[in-house]
Amino acid sequence: MTKYLIEAPAVTSVAVRGTESRLPVRRVICVGRNYADHAREMGKDPAKEPPFFFFKPTDTVIDSGVAMPYPPLTQLLHHEVELVVAIGRGGADIRKEDALDHVFGYGVGLDMTRRDLQLAARDMGRPWDWGKGFDWSAPCGPLSRVEDVGHPSMGAVQLRVNGELRQSADLNDLIWGVPEIIAIASSAMALAPGDLIFTGTPAGVSAVHEGDMLEGTIGGLDPVSTRIAPRGSGNPR
Ligand code: MN
Repeated sequence: MTKYLIEAPAVTSVAVRGTESRLPVRRVICVGRNYADHAREMGKDPAKEPPFFFFKPTDTVIDSGVAMPYPPLTQLLHHEVELVVAIGRGGADIRKEDALDHVFGYGVGLDMTRRDLQLAARDMGRPWDWGKGFDWSAPCGPLSRVEDVGHPSMGAVQLRVNGELRQSADLNDLIWGVPEIIAIASSAMALAPGDLIFTGTPAGVSAVHEGDMLEGTIGGLDPVSTRIAPRGSGNPR
């Protein structure tokens, strides 16, 4: 057994509906601009070009119900509600026709975004990491296993802030569906069990503030919620 010189980092994990056991998270892979109306609101043409991807650090994932402090460096924290796909079986160059066999289950996630930093980086041709990869930035609701929910491909995707509807679309509106996303992502790198794929957000992204209560829902799946705690409160480590 390997001996480490410091304590090994904790394993990030997500809850699974119907069991006390949890799914360990290996990586968090995110799809950019996967709903036409969101691409338009970000000033982009939603013409169907190949999807693009970015990552969040694995330890940005937090459970539903955990408060998220307003993050540093930003004055424009945005919510993005997304279908999360959990990979249960790995592979490279997975064919679209086989892709769903690799799914463990589905959940609802929030790709929280420091929009001011993301847009500044985008406009300067720099990486998005500082806009996307901050502590607590990926609240994720409990996963539902494929055996229990199948492969949801339609149904309302919604986000409410303090009960007010801010985002509302249908999974059917995804430009790139789950089989295509898995096929394309696995052509670039091998996927492995525990990879989470955040599949992109519909239109209606907007600012949230300290004290706000966020709830993301997708029909048939367990919801995700978080409250925005005061800036500087809490310590993720
Ligand atoms: Mn997103």
